[in-house]
Amino acid sequence: MITTKLQLEDSLPLTCSRAGTCCHGKTVFLNPWELANISKEKKMTPKEFSSEFCEWGGIKLKFNGESQFKNQSACSQYIENFGCSVHLGRPLACRLYPLGRKIQNEEAHYIHEGKEFPCLADCPTVTELPQMTVGEYLKDQSTKTYESGQDIYLELVQQLADIAFELYLDSGLAASGNKTTIDNWEKFGLLSPEELPKSIREDWLKELIIPEIKEIKNPIEFATAHSQILFGKAQTEFGSLTTLDELENASTLIMAVALQLARSIGADAKGLSEHWVETAKGHL
Ligand code: SF4
Repeated sequence: MITTKLQLEDSLPLTCSRAGTCCHGKTVFLNPWELANISKEKKMTPKEFSSEFCEWGGIKLKFNGESQFKNQSACSQYIENFGCSVHLGRPLACRLYPLGRKIQNEEAHYIHEGKEFPCLADCPTVTELPQMTVGEYLKDQSTKTYESGQDIYLELVQQLADIAFELYLDSGLAASGNKTTIDNWEKFGLLSPEELPKSIREDWLKELIIPEIKEIKNPIEFATAHSQILFGKAQTEFGSLTTLDELENASTLIMAVALQLARSIGADAKGLSEHWVETAKGHL
């Protein structure tokens, strides 16, 4: 897919025409903090919001509203003639659109799909609106907090994968000649977004997607509390494993958890699992 990289000072017709076309037929992911945040805006618990409005194990908004644009279904949060019903709690993907965000060498890059600016095809009237630079647009959409949420969850993905590595490489499991564990890591990366959450034990999926954290405050505090919950659970469950079967199951499970979290921030689970398998093989 062709993508165009933008500079913060690039000026584009980024002012929204509020036609709502971008709330139709899209894939909008929610990381666990965004799920808690959007639920609060909707005055629901994350559990209620997730079971009514999310799919793929709670990481993607359902787009099951009426089809009003190019036969594409509207987001479950979209209200005709009004717009987004959770505007203040909308996730990063919605704040950035039509831009995407890519981390390369620990630096954020803003991109859009294709050579042409996507809004021009769906909302040609935006050309008549005042232009904004990319930097002004990001400020206008208050993306900073939400971007820090993505970044901290990206770190947590790697930390969870590190537990899977320790359970495989530092426990004697890999030294025993076991290869099934890394085969399982690879298989999880190939599972569809519908199937992957079904492979994760219910108690782990619950702690991953709807952790019990009372105060939301900001994504950094939320994700820090969240990582403590997940690491505490891993320590309790995996701290005293002895048999090779137990170690294999634990490493497999926590890698699936890492991949599910990776998908919630829009990362490529297949590419990640392949990278981790190659890294593990390099240590054998
Ligand atoms: S959450 Fe709101 S802004 Fe985002 S796609 Fe749904 S209706 Fe549109």
